[in-house]
Amino acid sequence: MSVIFRNGLVLTMDDAHTVLPGADVLVVGDRIAEVGVGLTAPDDAEEIDATGGILMPGMIDTHRHMWQTAMRGYGADWTLSQYFVWYYLESGKLFRPEDVYAGNLLSAIEAIDAGVTTTVDWSHGLQTPQHADAAVDALEAVPGRFVLAYGNIQQGPWEWTTSDGFRDFHRRRIANGKLAGFQLAFDVTGDPAFPEKAAFEVARELGVPVTTHAGVWGATNDDGIRLMYENGFMTPGTVYVHAATLSSDSYHRIAATGGSVSVSTESEQSAGQGYPPTWQLRKHGIPVSLSMDTSVWWSGDLFSAMRTTLSADRSREHLEAHGKQETVTNHHLRAEHVVDWATRGGAKALGMDSEVGALTPGRLADVVLLRNDDSPVMFPILNAYGHVAFQAQRGDVHTVLVGGRVVKRDGKLVDADLATARAKVAATVDHLRETLGEEAWKRGMNPEVPPAELFDNPYQYTDYDAGSAQWKH
Ligand SMILES: [Zn+2]
Repeated sequence: MSVIFRNGLVLTMDDAHTVLPGADVLVVGDRIAEVGVGLTAPDDAEEIDATGGILMPGMIDTHRHMWQTAMRGYGADWTLSQYFVWYYLESGKLFRPEDVYAGNLLSAIEAIDAGVTTTVDWSHGLQTPQHADAAVDALEAVPGRFVLAYGNIQQGPWEWTTSDGFRDFHRRRIANGKLAGFQLAFDVTGDPAFPEKAAFEVARELGVPVTTHAGVWGATNDDGIRLMYENGFMTPGTVYVHAATLSSDSYHRIAATGGSVSVSTESEQSAGQGYPPTWQLRKHGIPVSLSMDTSVWWSGDLFSAMRTTLSADRSREHLEAHGKQETVTNHHLRAEHVVDWATRGGAKALGMDSEVGALTPGRLADVVLLRNDDSPVMFPILNAYGHVAFQAQRGDVHTVLVGGRVVKRDGKLVDADLATARAKVAATVDHLRETLGEEAWKRGMNPEVPPAELFDNPYQYTDYDAGSAQWKH
């Protein structure tokens, strides 16, 4: 089966970041065959008109707690400590395997709908191997590309990684499975005894990368990075999530050992892991990928990741400059950079750069067409990267291919069982709401509002004379 996109503005994201106006993308089987102007296609190729649209590689999210999508939006007003209390301490253990399935299924469908063709499921609710089976069952039911990052917040990583159940799961579902990749997902607390060492040794033995929430204010810090470094566990495949509250020394260690950082700007801004760190990462030469973290606050939409990351970086530059009575004359971070991070950056972070992340012949055909003829925002397209970062949004995702398979066409999902996802998520919400009770359910969603600070206004007028329409002093 072949697909040919005709006459689009193609952002190849190849090494030279070649941009081709009025170009075609030919897909044969599961791979990109050719990119160029006026291509010849096989007679049976499905032709998709990309006129007025932008063709780009499928986006890649390197850190999303997909099981939490069943609680979409519940924690909109949370801080990080409220999130920890709800999921880690109190309610996370209430999630049954079918609840992990429900969240993952909805999240996986959401990903492909938004043009995110590869997603890391940072799955730290895997209390039992049955939960892990459910997570994988859901990911395999959706035609996207998924990397399972196995985690379990109910136990220390030295416990679950060394359990027979985990080993058995890995043999059954991962070693010869259908997923795009596998990581171990756990955090390093900085305990000088370094109990996480046993989990790193399992990762090394299995030959799989580790992904870890690092530099999270009040939770993980420079000690964790130092322990990893001193024990030889900082490897090129390691993904450091957030890395927002770290010293320059830790950033140097990450850069020197070839790791990368998954930046979740919307999360860092609202939850409080630290200031979104791209302003530090670019000075230390650390590769970046983007992520949305969890739909308990935000949706799984990498357009907002690009937008907020660009804005947070610039915001920081302006703030620092103004503090020195200076003006920023030219921005360091460009729209082109965040588009690169949302595509190529993710591919590199996951060790999949030869397979996905760019529209070049030979790579897997993960293709996104942004086109929306009914939108006043889709013309004129003058600055292609700027258009993707600041103008386009998920509703403009017209067509999505994953490995040459059309999973969204004309703005509609193909073969996605949204009805099943809806029913299963509803059952999960009912289960949690009933188990918690109405009072706890509402309290969880509505954290206390701190007392407001209101300055005394020295210019407060007290007396208004309607006749003369003037304030009396
Ligand atoms: Zn996270």
